[in-house]
Amino acid sequence: MALIVQKYGGTSVGSAERIRAVAERVVETAKAGNQVAVVVSAMAGETDALVALAGELGGTPPPAREYDVLLATGEQKSIALLAMAIQALGQPARSFTGAQIGMRTDDAHNRARILDVDAECIHRELERGVVAVIAGFQGIDDEGDITTLGRGGSDTSAVAIAAALGADVCEILTDVTGVYTTDPRITESARKLERISFEEMIEMASAGAKVLQIRAVKFAMHYGLPLHVRSSFEEEEGTWVTREDDVMERLVVSGVTANRDEAKIRVHALRDEPGVASALLTPLSDAGIVVDMIVQNLARDGSTDFTFTVPKNDYARGLELAQATASKIGAGGVEGDDGIAKVSIVGLGMKDHAGVASRMFEVLGSEGINIQMISTSEIKISVVVEEKYTELAVRALHAAFVEDGAALLSPEA
Ligand code: ASP
Ligand code: MG
Repeated sequence: MALIVQKYGGTSVGSAERIRAVAERVVETAKAGNQVAVVVSAMAGETDALVALAGELGGTPPPAREYDVLLATGEQKSIALLAMAIQALGQPARSFTGAQIGMRTDDAHNRARILDVDAECIHRELERGVVAVIAGFQGIDDEGDITTLGRGGSDTSAVAIAAALGADVCEILTDVTGVYTTDPRITESARKLERISFEEMIEMASAGAKVLQIRAVKFAMHYGLPLHVRSSFEEEEGTWVTREDDVMERLVVSGVTANRDEAKIRVHALRDEPGVASALLTPLSDAGIVVDMIVQNLARDGSTDFTFTVPKNDYARGLELAQATASKIGAGGVEGDDGIAKVSIVGLGMKDHAGVASRMFEVLGSEGINIQMISTSEIKISVVVEEKYTELAVRALHAAFVEDGAALLSPEA
């Protein structure tokens, strides 16, 4: 007997019919002799609709506490419906809100962090043969106020619950069949990975892959809890996200990703002095804007250029703040561009291979794609290119590193 946590995303519970199909799958898993806790998202489109309503009535930004009370209703609806559907199949089930399972968080509304889960209360249900159907994305703070974890937060709820329960596996059931080497909508030769390490998954998620919320993967890595990303519509095995040691293949490049949700801001003729970078970026972080890539040139003639990327949603505000600082500290000027994409290659095997970056630049160069910015980590190389080249870049890199990548597989290559 295993203890399985299954998380179903919004598309998987998007209609009455789909909820019924999920209920059948849950019952099958329970009937096979497993203890099952299910974590669900709001029905597809529900959270967006609530966000839109808050936008109409709540002012900008809407009051954070009420916003969370509103957003949490989406998941409350789906747990009730799913628990009913499971019961209708003759299987005992009970729905639980975040507060009911003691999902304690800090009080950072709309992006709360999980502190603790009351595993005892869930274990009690599971031991009695009851399926626990738990609302993802929501928790409760010390004041007893409802909090939410940020968009896509149900993944993180599921992982936290699985870790607290000591589950054997946390299955993420979604509308894709696993984690792919790249977006199958961009190239048909994208293939599903059998296994991928936590580190690679984190880098891929931060580089634009949308299957899993990054925080969820970090959590799973911290607890050494394997994740199984698979389709909620089909039975086939999906992709296991596991410890590096359990990943057999160690591909040089296991994924090529693109992220079009960023914009770039360039400050030029900045004085080459201590404190300048901090003067520029502190107002952005105070405004809650998360800066991603940062590139600063070596100074020449006492001045330098400083370029960074921000989420597209924060572009206008980020540009304003940078302009304000630039005129205060006497920089030459600020310009921005939101017609960019960040294209990245990710792979554990990069650690033991030289020449991956130069090969990447060669591939892009031969397609006539100009590279605007570059950043690297131990297992990732990202470049910023003009947005219109996104697909071309992804296809070319996928062809060079994943399809023809076999030549690069031996550790000595
Ligand atoms: N319903 C929330 C959202 O759409 C949480 C989730 O689905 O993970 O972001
Ligand atoms: Mg999601």
